[in-house]
Amino acid sequence: MDKKEELLKLKRDLESRKDMPLISSANDVVFGDGNSDTEIVFIGEAAGYHESVQHKPFVGQAGKLLVKVMKETLGLDREQVYITNVIKTRPPDNRDPLPNEIEAFAYYLDKEIEIIEPKIIATLGRFSMAKFIPGVSISRVHGQARFVDFLQHRYLVFPMYHPAAALRAGSVLKEFTADFVKLKHLLHPAPGQSVAVAAESQPADPQLGLFP
Ligand code: URA
Repeated sequence: MDKKEELLKLKRDLESRKDMPLISSANDVVFGDGNSDTEIVFIGEAAGYHESVQHKPFVGQAGKLLVKVMKETLGLDREQVYITNVIKTRPPDNRDPLPNEIEAFAYYLDKEIEIIEPKIIATLGRFSMAKFIPGVSISRVHGQARFVDFLQHRYLVFPMYHPAAALRAGSVLKEFTADFVKLKHLLHPAPGQSVAVAAESQPADPQLGLFP
């Protein structure tokens, strides 16, 4: 089975579950979407209204901003990367996900990462960030890459603001865009420069350390 088939099987598995919070039928599922051979996976929070209608993550206003900034800075289309969420459905009234919901869906997010094995995991917002870098504030650590050992693999995790926050405040939009420019250097380190060096050359918070 190739990666694409493995992801499809995983999606079908979730669609067949009768015991998941927030999901009452296969139609409620908004699974990850994109290129299974990508070097970068973006992880948001949960589907919103438009995502629940189109059954695809990040297709509303926040998604449009994400895709626009990604194209302008990385030169990539959404089909070239993989985009997913912590919660693979829409919580009622778009409320924050609850701890038991995050835990229930974690199996599927973990499997997506295990299957794709990307070079970089870019987290969008605090819920996906907390999975890899718990106990920190996004305003302090966004744009600072760090290696995280996860499921017997070392990933470069790059915490970013959620694009919905960038839509709400011009100052956040500036930081969101600037972080994408940093991400470009991680994806494409200068000739002779390794990813680790590119990550180290980013200004890290001294109290947190770059390589925990
Ligand atoms: N916000 C998210 O976190 N994910 C989506 O898919 C859409 C909006």
